[in-house]
Amino acid sequence: MNVVDSERIVDLLEGIGYAQVDAAEKADLVLLNTCSVRDKAERKVYGHLGRFKPIKDRRPELIIGVGGCVAQQEGEKMLETVPYLDLVFGTHNIHRLPELVLQAEEKRRGSVTDFLDRETRLNLFPHRSVRDNVTRFVTVMQGCDNFCSYCIVPYVRGREVSRPSGEIKAEIEGLVAQGVREVTLLGQNVNSYGLKEDGELSFAELLNEVNQVAGLERLRFATSHPKDMTDELINCFGRLDKLCKHIHLPVQSGSDRILELMNRGYTAADYLRKVEGLKSVCPEIRLTTDIIVGFPGETEDDFLATLEMVEMVRYADAFTFLYSPRSGTKAAELQDDQSSVLKQERFERLCALQNRIGEEIWQQDLDKVLPVLVEGESKQGDGQLFGRTTWNRIVNFVGEKELIGMTVPVKIVKVFRNSNLGELI
Ligand code: SAH
Ligand code: SF4
Repeated sequence: MNVVDSERIVDLLEGIGYAQVDAAEKADLVLLNTCSVRDKAERKVYGHLGRFKPIKDRRPELIIGVGGCVAQQEGEKMLETVPYLDLVFGTHNIHRLPELVLQAEEKRRGSVTDFLDRETRLNLFPHRSVRDNVTRFVTVMQGCDNFCSYCIVPYVRGREVSRPSGEIKAEIEGLVAQGVREVTLLGQNVNSYGLKEDGELSFAELLNEVNQVAGLERLRFATSHPKDMTDELINCFGRLDKLCKHIHLPVQSGSDRILELMNRGYTAADYLRKVEGLKSVCPEIRLTTDIIVGFPGETEDDFLATLEMVEMVRYADAFTFLYSPRSGTKAAELQDDQSSVLKQERFERLCALQNRIGEEIWQQDLDKVLPVLVEGESKQGDGQLFGRTTWNRIVNFVGEKELIGMTVPVKIVKVFRNSNLGELI
């Protein structure tokens, strides 16, 4: 979502005469697009701002701004805390950025963090610009109404709104006409798409529609909530030829007691039933997940239930997080008597288990020839390209640039921790 917001920011700034450079030292304007989901991300923002201060001391005309979730949360206060900051814009106010920048050019500092009403937000949904990428994100809904007890997102991104399905389909057709081969439908809680809009398609129906777009090769979505994984949506993985065989399905915990305290709206058994459903309609599917360790009051038994979940599902990969209290959320008020040493130790046990399982799964691909959609030149250099398998796994291999945008057979010759090395067949 931040990638999409950053693209929108770049487009708006290009509209007022700015162009991108590759280092803050060379820039007239530096913007930070921020995340406040955990304390560490939030603290980083202040660290980065500190790095820009000496540049501003040397070149006082440099404009510095902050957007995204930390900006939404802190608002005008940030201008007081950071005296060399020029502008602050919230998650609903990206469209106001040109105005704030023009003001800052005249040495007027500003902050806009109002939440907007539904109609205005629907009108402001990003209208996509031209980029020569093979794969693109398409926002289908924004905001979150779930209020998981640990999570700041509903407070900084506001209420859920879904875009009209006709508009989404038209946007994807336009992207395909520009050469895009794969789209990822994006939302904080993508599979609650349409539930709050009268007469709108369900998320599964939307996938059906997008699957029919001629010239589109692959379809993905992120992130889905287990409680909104309907049978209709599960069946899509057995029916839709363009839908990739990967789903990111955050479980958070394997303990029913903790899931309840988290306000997740499902039990471990509910979650496992959905995973079984996915595996039965699509035996090749690979799952990834998010897990929080050290939620307030988590006991050894709760934690063991999470390990058991990881063993049963066999995730290909997992984002594991130490619980970080976010002020204003329900969980921040809960009593927490577990020591940080214990939490860290659990975190490491979980990572060790997941790493073992992940490695076993990715090693199965060794010596196999897999279809790879080629996205561009690899960061590895040496004439290498990179692309992804249906499981969203990066594969680097030597090949001609003309292959970019095509799906080609690649033999996997080496499996690393986060990517594979391949040979074009
Ligand atoms: N909407 C998505 C995820 C949004 S945040 C979903 O519901 O799955 C991404 C991940 O950050 C979450 O899945 C959760 O695992 C983690 N997270 C959110 N708040 C957190 C907190 N306070 N402490 C630690 N991890 C957190
Ligand atoms: Fe946060 Fe829960 Fe919403 Fe995901 S579903 S963004 S974890 S409140």
